[in-house]
Amino acid sequence: MTIVCSKCNKEAITYIRYNGTHLCSEHFISYFEKRVKKNIKKQGRTPDGAKIAVALSGGKDSTVVLHIAHDVYSKRKNVELITITVDEGIQGYRDKSIKIAEKNCKKLGVEQKIVSFKKLIGVTMDEISQGDYDIGQCSFCGVFRRFCLNKVAKELKVDRLITGHNLDDMSQSILMNFVNGDIEKLARLAPHIKIKTGLVPRMVPLSVIPEKENALYAYVKNIEFYDGECPYSHVARRGVFQDIIYDLEEKKPGTRHSILTSYEKIRDLLMIKYPPVELTRCEKCGEPSSQRICKTCALREMVSKKLKK
Ligand code: SF4
Repeated sequence: MTIVCSKCNKEAITYIRYNGTHLCSEHFISYFEKRVKKNIKKQGRTPDGAKIAVALSGGKDSTVVLHIAHDVYSKRKNVELITITVDEGIQGYRDKSIKIAEKNCKKLGVEQKIVSFKKLIGVTMDEISQGDYDIGQCSFCGVFRRFCLNKVAKELKVDRLITGHNLDDMSQSILMNFVNGDIEKLARLAPHIKIKTGLVPRMVPLSVIPEKENALYAYVKNIEFYDGECPYSHVARRGVFQDIIYDLEEKKPGTRHSILTSYEKIRDLLMIKYPPVELTRCEKCGEPSSQRICKTCALREMVSKKLKK
């Protein structure tokens, strides 16, 4: 039996469990784009003359968000869109995704800046993985990637940095920070409304979109993305929270949206309790930091000690 779209008589390609609608490809595309574009508006006005950068890895989420950002900003004469790709130095994984990222940038005519851990941090993820640490590889990778993106975005005079975090990522981060009792970190999640000196504010247009809808959008729009898995992803602590949220969503559709909306409702209160701290400059690298030595330099030192042994 053919299931038809809830909005027209065409064949449905998907069932959106959390709102009970069947959608054909055309209505799925408009449903998807409407929410992302509305989210872009909600996350801050983009003034004339602004320079926006998309953090592009070549994976599904960042590639989809690049295509939507291009659709939105290419219609604005005075807004410049570029991409920043960070090469963490993961052989057989990142090199492949970078090729796809390059293809997408060429296709859309968007300038791409590629930066590497090797150049900016002095070490690749493959080298880091040779050491034995108390924390997983993703802890280094996340801190170093944020450092590279912020540093390069500042150098390029970027006003806003867009990342591809989706609803699954957001709900996992919120839950993880609650469980870890890290409420201050919770108050600092993107999107960033308050601008802090030295930090380029981030936008997360896909924060309301479940990961599977992103994949479906890429598929129906024929967007090429890299689908490989990072060899270090098995040690990510996020996996536990991912499983919990999948399970909850399965039993109670709409859980991820509820987590995000509940967070948005208390966010202003969190910001009052934890107002943005004054940042100083790291004594080693000069980048903004809340401590004397920034996290990047502290981790960099940890790595160099381990690798020298
Ligand atoms: Fe980096 Fe971890 Fe992501 Fe791999 S899975 S790219 S190590 S954060």
